[in-house]
Amino acid sequence: VAPGELEWREVPEPRLTDPGQAIVEPLVVATCDLDAPMIAGETPYRGPIAVGHECIARVLEVGAAVRTVRPGDRVVVPFQVSCGACAPCRRGHTGICAAVPPLAMYGFGRAGGDYGGAIADRLSVRFADAMLVPLPAALDARHLASLADNLPDAYRAVAGPLAARPGASVLVVGGQCVSIGLYAVMLARALGAGRVVYLDPDGARCERAAALGAEAVCAPYPERAADRHAIAVDASADPRGLACAVRSLAPEGVCTSAGGYFTEATPVPLRELYLGGGALVTGRCHARPAIEPLIALAVAGAIDPAPVTATVAPLGDAAEVLAAGRREKQVFVRAGAEVGL
Ligand SMILES: [Zn+2]
Ligand SMILES: [Zn+2]
Repeated sequence: VAPGELEWREVPEPRLTDPGQAIVEPLVVATCDLDAPMIAGETPYRGPIAVGHECIARVLEVGAAVRTVRPGDRVVVPFQVSCGACAPCRRGHTGICAAVPPLAMYGFGRAGGDYGGAIADRLSVRFADAMLVPLPAALDARHLASLADNLPDAYRAVAGPLAARPGASVLVVGGQCVSIGLYAVMLARALGAGRVVYLDPDGARCERAAALGAEAVCAPYPERAADRHAIAVDASADPRGLACAVRSLAPEGVCTSAGGYFTEATPVPLRELYLGGGALVTGRCHARPAIEPLIALAVAGAIDPAPVTATVAPLGDAAEVLAAGRREKQVFVRAGAEVGL
């Protein structure tokens, strides 16, 4: 409601009004890396905002036309609203679905089209067949709510680049996009990267990265890393971190930036990037198409996002916990929900 302030509000319960719609009950909600800066008033998003856009939910009701999910199913709710049928959606660009207003997403208040937030008792989901992805019963839901956003964001930063450069070395520059950087380490390892180097001034984040299999270097962002890497991920949300990631690229390398830059212009060492034939990729991730491949990795035991989670708390305590302003991944579980195994 104001920078650093959260409160519960009573709102009208969402009802089924469309045959393609579902009403779901969030069971596990995770913070996105953007939530803490947003709550602290450090982003352009202004309150009041119904917070939360990463959740695993239980389906309560479905419209007459819904075919792929039924009441009782546990599902991932991607943070962006997409129809699955328009031209951008069919290309996999579900973040720019043509059937909804630009930036239609949960948990961003008016800027996201007022679709509501996941820290709530109910969520209305249009295009339920296209949106909702059932979570296999074999998976513990507690650490998988980020399948809605931050896991797909990390996945796009390493999966495509590694598929094009099998066994390549990956540099992750960590920082304010805390969980995206750590998930990128985990996914780079799982997807067959050669070396995975994690660079971050923060000791606690470096420890988590090392536990996930990275060579962690805990130091202020240098001008460039000690070695060159074919793939770089900028999760720093710091112009020095971005510049370091770009300057550390091997020739014809690719750097993906998870963003978090809210000033009018951000410096990029474009001359070096150009001369090395490097590519810089950024933009909101398209969450929906990454969810199935990520679930397959989890089912195969190739990834376990649990070590990225810093705290697990009851959903009812979310306002107090979020007001504390911690930047790491925080998970909230609905009282009585059976989410483990
Ligand atoms: Zn997010
Ligand atoms: Zn669409």
